[in-house]
Amino acid sequence: MSLYCGIACRRKSFWCYRQLSTYVTKTRYLFELKEDDDACKKAQQTGAFYLFHNLAPLLQKSGHQYLAPQHSLLELERLLGKFGQDSQRIEDSVLIGCSEQQEAWFALDLGLNSSSSINASLQKPEVEKELTGSFTELRKALYQLNVKDASLLSTAQALLRWHDTHQFCSRSGQPTKKNMAGSKRVCSSNQIIYYPQMAPVVITLVSDGTRCLLARQSFFPKGMYSALAGFCDIGLS
Ligand SMILES: [Zn+2]
Repeated sequence: MSLYCGIACRRKSFWCYRQLSTYVTKTRYLFELKEDDDACKKAQQTGAFYLFHNLAPLLQKSGHQYLAPQHSLLELERLLGKFGQDSQRIEDSVLIGCSEQQEAWFALDLGLNSSSSINASLQKPEVEKELTGSFTELRKALYQLNVKDASLLSTAQALLRWHDTHQFCSRSGQPTKKNMAGSKRVCSSNQIIYYPQMAPVVITLVSDGTRCLLARQSFFPKGMYSALAGFCDIGLS
């Protein structure tokens, strides 16, 4: 028995070590891409892109589930070319993560107009038809995605929204420019660096031990309920 436990513990500690090692390797790689524009641009060559239109991700329905299709850089360039867009638009994409094999993942919104981009937004129906999917409101599809895609698309949407609403410096009013990964924006006039915001939230589950209190909003899909949540104000404790 003790021998068995010893083997199990060693296996578990090996598994923990491997998980930790993978996490550290991925974090280092992502950090490098956030700091080095050239490395990030290179990572786009072999990376995968998730597409959005006005912050709604492109999804494909598969039975009761949604799938989030990935596109390669080549496919994206072909798509933009087909709709008369410059491939420079790809520079509006943001880094959202990477696989264990260090395949970088990016998100690009084809509907939002960035101040630095001369491109007009792509028409939604035409793109949907071309990519055989639909740009779907994320909150409605969240529970019909797998855990990895739900997390990744939530990160992507938050980051894309932050860039869309922080295109100008709050001190000088001049345009800010994102770095390649989209981990920050810099004002060229006074060099102020802006980083994406974190918004602390609290989620509570009210329970009497056997039952719990859930709520729903009218736009939730049928059968969807959630625990009660809210944002924390400054100074709240
Ligand atoms: Zn400024």
